[in-house]
Amino acid sequence: MYYTTDTATTPNAKIPEGDLKDKWSNFKDKTRLISPNNRHQYKILVVGTGLSGASAAASLAELGYNVSTFCFQDSPRRAHSVAAQGGVNAMKNYKNDGDSVYRMFYDTLKGGDFRAREANVYRLAECSSHLIDQAVAQGVPFAREYSGYLANRSFGGVQVSRTFYARGQTGQQLLLGAYQAMMRQVHLGRIKSFTRHEMLDLVTENGVAKGIIVRNMDTGEISRHAAHAVVLATGGFGKIYYLSTLAMGCNGSAIWRAHKKGAWTSCPSWTQIHPTCLPQAGNYQSKLTLMSESLRNDGRIWVPQTKNENRKAIEIPEEDRDYYLERKYPSYGNLAPRDIASRAAKERIDAGHGVGPLKNAVYLDFKDAIATQGKDIISKKYGNLFNMYEKITGINAYQQPMMISPAAHFSMGGLWVDYELSTNIPGLYAIGEANFSDHGANRLGANSLLQACIDGYYVLPQTLPQYLAQQGKATPPESSSEAFMKAENQVRSQLEELSGINGSKTVDHFHRELGKILYDKCGLSRSAKGLTEAIESIRVLRKSFLQDLKIPQVLQGINEELEKAGRVADYLEIGELMCIDALSREESCGAHFREEHQTPDGEAKRNDSDFSYISCWKKNADTPVLIKEPLQFEFTKPTERSYK
Ligand SMILES: Cc1cc2nc3c(=O)[nH]c(=O)nc-3n(C[C@H](O)[C@H](O)[C@H](O)COP(=O)(O)OP(=O)(O)OC[C@H]3O[C@@H](n4cnc5c(N)ncnc54)[C@H](O)[C@@H]3O)c2cc1C
Repeated sequence: MYYTTDTATTPNAKIPEGDLKDKWSNFKDKTRLISPNNRHQYKILVVGTGLSGASAAASLAELGYNVSTFCFQDSPRRAHSVAAQGGVNAMKNYKNDGDSVYRMFYDTLKGGDFRAREANVYRLAECSSHLIDQAVAQGVPFAREYSGYLANRSFGGVQVSRTFYARGQTGQQLLLGAYQAMMRQVHLGRIKSFTRHEMLDLVTENGVAKGIIVRNMDTGEISRHAAHAVVLATGGFGKIYYLSTLAMGCNGSAIWRAHKKGAWTSCPSWTQIHPTCLPQAGNYQSKLTLMSESLRNDGRIWVPQTKNENRKAIEIPEEDRDYYLERKYPSYGNLAPRDIASRAAKERIDAGHGVGPLKNAVYLDFKDAIATQGKDIISKKYGNLFNMYEKITGINAYQQPMMISPAAHFSMGGLWVDYELSTNIPGLYAIGEANFSDHGANRLGANSLLQACIDGYYVLPQTLPQYLAQQGKATPPESSSEAFMKAENQVRSQLEELSGINGSKTVDHFHRELGKILYDKCGLSRSAKGLTEAIESIRVLRKSFLQDLKIPQVLQGINEELEKAGRVADYLEIGELMCIDALSREESCGAHFREEHQTPDGEAKRNDSDFSYISCWKKNADTPVLIKEPLQFEFTKPTERSYK
């Protein structure tokens, strides 16, 4: 058995009382506050300054708290949030197409296959419209209609248009807004910003978060930082698959080190594999490029009817094309949710209908959209994406279809948090993609920028002070305790251990191997046999990593290989837990597709009576321990998730 189950512990999600639509107000009405005069006495560390971290740091500092921020890039502006292209969802109903807070809530809950908490998801939808107003006030240049209203488009899994966008740069523009708000506080002296600093451990005393240990990535210096609360806003760990749409530096180390200090990790196996990425072109590639999901508003996805088709796309007549999403899911068609669209692509590719040099792609075709709307309109909507596609592939997508393929993209899993975004370690919070909270087993497109901003701007600044208020009078945080000393020594010895292995293989070699195992056995589809094999293979790989890793350069100064080695050491452990999590969930839900659990026509088959829970994994010396947070559906009735 790869894990044990603790049935005596029931996580307390701290969902406020009341009707669904009153819960967040009820929380805010009753939460304890700290007097403005006293706030500067409380020190808060925010690790990560992407959208979630920058917005949280700016908001907490604006309230008067004493904040330090940390990121591994040379500027918060370079956080991975900058890469988000397609848009951010919000309920404004500008299109008058029937949107409402409830509809957005329901779409998100259903999109996640009823594996998220109702109260969290409702709050996400409820706060969404404020975000758009705040971002506009910050100067985020959302696209507008002729009338001056903000423009909207659709993303997968919904039948209304609620996605706001700034051409193909929505993440960048939102991040610039949050960054400006954060830098205002840096200049006012309320935020101390540590760039090029990587958190390598969480310090706890008597089970309470007290601070972190970080490494200066330019000098190699290790330092201790003590605080009254620690916030992890460190993004997703989808880069564990090696080939993914994430930036090379994205990693899971901060949350994993917190996990090793007692924080529960929830649903780590729920990874979103995005359907519209550029296909892998060769073995030495280290990154895959996302083509925004917005393209599915107008692009039609198809494969040739004939297996191993060798004709060019434009030579294949209509009757020889299979628009498989339109065929299988007539009501949502090309806007079927990501998990469904990715699995359908894999199924067609595996059945021999793939296209491109490696036969690992499907077509995304704009021929009809250009014919009906004109090239100018299509170019206005997607011009920068078409240019990017041509730059990378040399193909002009106005003249022939794009070729796209599924790729690892987003972690629905992450640190367990309650309604207040607190982990099970008092004083430790997790926000943005680093937590598991709002997306269930499958995230709807454009809901992640939203969640990062809602967590950072609105939720954390309301919930974290309550924890501080409960602590009573603030005493200056201290970093000289034994717990800090021990954590620092552990960090130093791990770095020395890794750099002292002196083997023959690079970090990338191990990372690539891990990625292959996970993609094959814990990717788009999973089985008990495959997952068991994956766990065993990862164990062998980890052993080899610890014996045969080669890190050139010395400990001091810039050492990218050493940075990567620490992250891959963690990935090797996270990868094993992902497989265990997937193995323990004997059902298919959202992105988690167990081959043993499917309907006769190949759709995911959920098992609500046995698996309607959030898995919370606790670290244990031998095997991980599974704790279950049961999901209660008071205001909705989980139904079979159909997009037909
Ligand atoms: C290519 C791409 C396109 C996307 N497009 C969209 C979209 O259109 N709409 C949408 O809603 N979502 C989109 N997403 C998802 C969305 O961009 C992310 O989920 C979101 O931006 C995550 O924000 P975050 O603040 O949680 O983390 P990030 O922006 O990833 O920030 C993480 C921060 O943590 C820091 N960090 C990490 N580890 C450490 C450590 N150990 N020590 C110190 N600092 C650390 C980093 O330096 C960084 O500052 C996209 C994702 C990708 C990959």
